[in-house]
Amino acid sequence: MTAIEILKNMSAPALRDVLTALQAEGAGLGHFNVSDQVLLKAVVAAAAETKLPVLVGASEGERDFFGAHQLAAIVKSSRQESGLPIFLNADHTHSLEKAVEAANAGFDAVTIDFSAFPFDQNVAHTKETVQAIKAINPAILAEGEIGDIGTGSEIKETVQGGRLSTPEEARQFVEATGIDVLAPAVGNMHGMLKSMVQGKAKKHLDLERIAQIKQAAGVFLTLHGGSGTDDGHFRKAIAAGINIIHINTELRVAWRESLDESLSRDSNEVVPYKILGPVVDSVKQVVSSRLRLFHDHMATSEAVGSVA
Ligand SMILES: [Zn+2]
Repeated sequence: MTAIEILKNMSAPALRDVLTALQAEGAGLGHFNVSDQVLLKAVVAAAAETKLPVLVGASEGERDFFGAHQLAAIVKSSRQESGLPIFLNADHTHSLEKAVEAANAGFDAVTIDFSAFPFDQNVAHTKETVQAIKAINPAILAEGEIGDIGTGSEIKETVQGGRLSTPEEARQFVEATGIDVLAPAVGNMHGMLKSMVQGKAKKHLDLERIAQIKQAAGVFLTLHGGSGTDDGHFRKAIAAGINIIHINTELRVAWRESLDESLSRDSNEVVPYKILGPVVDSVKQVVSSRLRLFHDHMATSEAVGSVA
């Protein structure tokens, strides 16, 4: 029985159940950021099209624009109406207050991000935040971050970040904070270079480091800044222990290009849903193709040379 078949037999699987089932199947969960309802509609439509679980994400900036409670209400309503395992993550949360706000709004997970602080302060702030959100909802998944992968899902001139995480700091961080999910720096980076947007260059991951960190940390792992990564590396990263993959810039690029195209098609068109409908479709195609890639466990087995 596949992970999806197991999940179908559960009345309301929690995010942890979904991650456990996908991991057993050698698949990853796609995390897609949304700033507005056009992007959210695209992610939900892709989940419906592929019949695969999705994790909707919104950073502090995205939540400020959408409204944390409003976003949580629409995601909940989409989940109820579709019956699909659609979950919501408070991406890159830099304060206790914002984490508590997301937990109270009904988010399924919080990415607690104090990675800009020195290690000891990162541990202290993360631990305090984990305890606060679990007091609100014991089932909420708490993610913590170590290392530097740059900031901002944007088009960039130069490579950012660079300090990779070590298995030993991963182990220490998980033990000291009580997080359920760890986001390490393993060759990934937020945003995309212009050459990546043009498809001329791809990000490559430190696959051996991922496997070592998985072994040492013993928790679910998230890959941030997945946009522009080589397809084969995604599959190998999942095989090495990555559970959640964040895609944001690729969606933003599809949104912008499709919106430009839609607006320039007819300067007299003023009906918003006629302009925005094709944008939803374009973003949906990106999300669906990523979801299929992350779930293509047969391809994963081939990629790592497994006979299982
Ligand atoms: Zn991120």
